[in-house]
Amino acid sequence: MSLISEILNYNEQFVAKEEYKEFLTTKFPDKKMVVLTCMDARLVELLPKAMNLHNGDAKIIKNAGAIVSHPFGSIMRSIIVAVYELDADEVFVIGHYDCGMTGLNSDKVIASAKKRGISDDVITTLGHSGIDLSSWLTGFDHAREGIEKSVNIIRNHPLLPKNLPVHGLIIDPQTGRLDLIEDGYKDAE
Ligand SMILES: [Zn+2]
Repeated sequence: MSLISEILNYNEQFVAKEEYKEFLTTKFPDKKMVVLTCMDARLVELLPKAMNLHNGDAKIIKNAGAIVSHPFGSIMRSIIVAVYELDADEVFVIGHYDCGMTGLNSDKVIASAKKRGISDDVITTLGHSGIDLSSWLTGFDHAREGIEKSVNIIRNHPLLPKNLPVHGLIIDPQTGRLDLIEDGYKDAE
């Protein structure tokens, strides 16, 4: 059975048995928080359980590495919507040890794309169009560095209030232990 059929079959049962009932809540986060974290598969259940977050508690935004790469990109827009439209009062940037974005090498990614049939011409044309693939496909040296950068962009964003606490943490993807890197209460004015 294909993955999509497996999922749709399961889903039919899930809805028929009304298993959704225990998850009913609203779009407003009960704990008034927005979390930006990594898409790492180990964090799917571990991160909310390790933080005691249940359905309805938080807005959770995910991408590779919990990185805010542009102050006016979709991650930053999501944070702004969470704050102004959905009543989030605190921001948590949560990276993790052993992140795939640590030491991500753009040459390696481009080589893999080429192996899958992307031509040299496409890579060259993108370069000529002003797209800097090597910096776009580069992660960070340490999880801590990635978190500090993202926290800084959020804290200094011209559309966010100065008194908005922005915390930075690193989670251990094995044990769920959280290390506080940036205490958002200290820097919020
Ligand atoms: Zn990661």
